[in-house]
Amino acid sequence: MELPREVVIGDGTLPEIGELYSRLGLGSPALVVTGHRTYGIAGKEVGTYVSEQGIEVYYVKADRPTLSEVRRVELLARTWGAKAIIGVGGGSKIDVAKLAASYLEIPMISVPTTASHDGISSPFASIKGLSRPYSARAKTPTAVLVDMDVIVDSPPRLVASGCGDVIAKFTAVRDWRLAHERNGEYYGEYAASLALMSARLVVRNADKIGAGSREGLRVLMEALISCGVAMSIAGSSRPCSGSEHLFSHALDVIRPGGALHGEQCGVGTIMMAKLHGLSWRRIRSVLTTVGTPVDADGISATPEQVVRALVMAPSIRPERYTILSEAHLSERKALELARSTRVLG
Ligand SMILES: [Zn+2]
Repeated sequence: MELPREVVIGDGTLPEIGELYSRLGLGSPALVVTGHRTYGIAGKEVGTYVSEQGIEVYYVKADRPTLSEVRRVELLARTWGAKAIIGVGGGSKIDVAKLAASYLEIPMISVPTTASHDGISSPFASIKGLSRPYSARAKTPTAVLVDMDVIVDSPPRLVASGCGDVIAKFTAVRDWRLAHERNGEYYGEYAASLALMSARLVVRNADKIGAGSREGLRVLMEALISCGVAMSIAGSSRPCSGSEHLFSHALDVIRPGGALHGEQCGVGTIMMAKLHGLSWRRIRSVLTTVGTPVDADGISATPEQVVRALVMAPSIRPERYTILSEAHLSERKALELARSTRVLG
């Protein structure tokens, strides 16, 4: 298992990136992969602190998280002879940086500017244009640096989405255990507990997170990082991604770019919780408290799209056994499930 060597999280930690980079001995030049907006929020500053350590720094502003964008970053990094990549931005910039660094087999430091999903520290990247609609395997970030001063200013919708991605672990872990019971698939108690603990912490701090308090956001950030570590320990995305993620991936296939990853996973979790016999009402209530959508309207999906996504979900990743593998949802049953959990009115 490959874990991050250092995780730095705190208030006003951004200037520590220079020393962190030097301490890790990553070499010169460094390539900062950031976004057009996040360059101004933290990307430029990160590059400045690293260059103060005598490291030459190049910048790339990445667009959408597509394979062609990953290839462009990879080519520029090769041209400049980059020894390491620092990804600075929301989920998608981190994912582009992470996959490019994996292709180049160089270290990557993750500097998230939002708490929108669990890819911050995980060995997976969500990139469009790959052969499958779910995350690709990548290298675990060598280090993660989080400045809470930056995170508290991130848009509430992204925070809510991050909560949806963490709450999803309740059903993801159930699916993993089911696969173990039915098919003898490897199940790691430690990784599963870590993912579940993260979800429970978000539940316990839902009020604080919903209110956007610094304390609440820090819990969420630590939960997201722990989920990434759980995936590294498990050696797969199993502890963090189950039937609720398959629903989200299916929606992305049917209707790309309709809502945020964590928002769709949150709605998926409500429905999968019912199939698992968990309290879907409790999950729905926590999602409402943190401000994550709980129905089809909230994720801009039509009733037809929700039903189609539910029916399609198990075929997205046939080798991944989940509750959907035995629920055999017909269109009628899918509609019933969505209605009974108030995802459809
Ligand atoms: Zn996720």
